[in-house]
Amino acid sequence: MGEIKYPIEVSDIEIDEHFQPVEQPLTAKTGDWVAVRPCAEKYGDKTHLGVMLGDMIQMPMARHNPETKVLSLMAIHNPAMWVPALKTVIWGSGSWWRVIDSPDDIRDVTDDDINGTPYMRALGAEVEREIRSEVRAMARAMEDVLRDNDHKTGWKDDSVDSLIEHLVEESRELVEAHAAGSTPDKVAKEAIDVANMAMMVVDSLGCLK
Ligand SMILES: [Mg+2]
Repeated sequence: MGEIKYPIEVSDIEIDEHFQPVEQPLTAKTGDWVAVRPCAEKYGDKTHLGVMLGDMIQMPMARHNPETKVLSLMAIHNPAMWVPALKTVIWGSGSWWRVIDSPDDIRDVTDDDINGTPYMRALGAEVEREIRSEVRAMARAMEDVLRDNDHKTGWKDDSVDSLIEHLVEESRELVEAHAAGSTPDKVAKEAIDVANMAMMVVDSLGCLK
């Protein structure tokens, strides 16, 4: 498509069926929270919080047919995202972006963006970001064991004394498993028992917040 040579004679103006101000983007919905990292250098190498506005007209275009003299108005659409921290609209074509569904999706979003957004705090984002991966993995392993024991009475009615006693017992099992040359899985299982008992002691002391 070349440039239009002026002056031109226009017999009719056609508006292309896709010349609509807003359409739903293919991979997101209007109003979705998104993590956006603009490509332009002036924004720095930061990922920001944004709101998907929709697939909007990024570039209006006109095509003139010299034979029919019809001027056709067309448009290129692109996902447009409002980024409050930058006070600007960032285009999908000028950024890396993704819809935010879980705390994992905002790991690289700047702290300022998250802390200023109640929705993100509700996602548990702040907490997730402060917890290192090993501790999260350990917590999951502890939870697996607790779930296997859900049919038992739990620890809420146990005294601190008896829980500490149980913690010592589990510690002994850990030492013995290691001394007996048990497999890493078996030794780890005992260490996870120790961790769960320690958690219960801290909980029954009322110190888990
Ligand atoms: Mg054990």
